[in-house]
Amino acid sequence: MSASTDDLPAAVRRFVDETVLPQVDEWDRRDDLPQSAIDRLVELGLPGAMVPREYGGRGLGVSDLVPAWRALSHGWISLTGAVNPTGLATALLVRHGTEAQRERWLPPIARGEALASFSITEPQAGSDIGRIETSARPRSGGGLVLDGEKRWVAGGASSQVVFMMAAMEGSEKPSCVVLPADGRGSASWQVEELDKVGYRGVESAAYRFEEHEAPGAEILGGDEGIGSGARQMLDALDVGRVNVACRALGIVDRCIECAIEEGTTREVGDGLLGEHTHAQLRIGELIARRAAVQALTEKAAEAVDARSDDARELSTSAKLVASEAAVWAVDAAARLAASRSYAAGDELARLRRDAPQTEIGEGANDALLLALARPALDLQ
Ligand SMILES: Cc1cc2nc3c(=O)[nH]c(=O)nc-3n(C[C@H](O)[C@H](O)[C@H](O)COP(=O)(O)OP(=O)(O)OC[C@H]3O[C@@H](n4cnc5c(N)ncnc54)[C@H](O)[C@@H]3O)c2cc1C
Repeated sequence: MSASTDDLPAAVRRFVDETVLPQVDEWDRRDDLPQSAIDRLVELGLPGAMVPREYGGRGLGVSDLVPAWRALSHGWISLTGAVNPTGLATALLVRHGTEAQRERWLPPIARGEALASFSITEPQAGSDIGRIETSARPRSGGGLVLDGEKRWVAGGASSQVVFMMAAMEGSEKPSCVVLPADGRGSASWQVEELDKVGYRGVESAAYRFEEHEAPGAEILGGDEGIGSGARQMLDALDVGRVNVACRALGIVDRCIECAIEEGTTREVGDGLLGEHTHAQLRIGELIARRAAVQALTEKAAEAVDARSDDARELSTSAKLVASEAAVWAVDAAARLAASRSYAAGDELARLRRDAPQTEIGEGANDALLLALARPALDLQ
């Protein structure tokens, strides 16, 4: 049973406190996001939370989800990442799908029966969408034939549907292919799971398509969507960037708790570490930067919900500022914890591996800085 919107953050916090925090070290070590945890995310209604009511969903906005995403990240950013692609798929379908595509996918997403993946990146193409090589062409009898390689597909070994950027034959610009999972793992659609240093547990798949016949595949938005994939998928990333900012915010929250724990329990000289000015300065700075990141993330979420003109700039800025704060916060807390941040099982050691994911996911930070600067300079 899904928690009500008001109860959602509290229900997520209970799940994090009772189930996640006692086991996250073990899950991280095994690189395993257990099915029971995914089932709980579905019970909480998180993956399909944004599906509109007319398709059986709860119709929540990004702003409604910020506290829940942040609370999940307080336990493990992999949980927040795991619900993200289905939220992106929801945004894609609602904003750009045909009515038939919405009716096909949104109800099962709302019920938690379909989880989605979102795939832009290729071995030779990340930010540079002009380098996308995966191709699609019409299949006789319906559907598409696919060729090419994809990389870093979150949830990509088990999701029920993949929203994937590919160049449609005859179109100069890429399209967004809606690809049901049938045939994944076959010789024509090979799947490999990537091993990662952090953000573990989330499946990160690499695909290789070789003349893969996908009878159920179609272009998002139908024929009118051909050549619109870049616009559609970058538009949905506004939602994902707020999700990533919440991952970072949850890490900052946890770093503050670790720093306070050190300050109030570790004895140094003739007192507690927290009685020393340098520890107080560090914790004060952590608290101040968290307030700034929180305010920007909330403002970005409101802009994304309103689809206002500054939604792209604000969601990008929130993701940038939050991710850099997260990486910095781990270091600040680790200075107080010192060797207690360096054993493999120390929480700060895991956060040190997890935090940089927020600087890369949903766009590498430097590439995003360029994207912010170029229009301001009137450059293409
Ligand atoms: C754990 C993890 C999960 C991920 N999950 C997904 C997923 O589910 N779906 C998905 O599609 N992708 C996913 N990604 C991929 C991620 O979105 C890309 O890694 C990211 O967009 C950056 O792309 P890139 O790594 O190719 O680097 P690039 O963006 O190509 O950056 C490489 C370098 O080129 C520079 N650069 C970039 N653009 C320009 C430019 N215009 N001019 C000059 N220099 C430039 C950058 O500053 C950087 O130094 C994931 C990645 C990770 C690590």
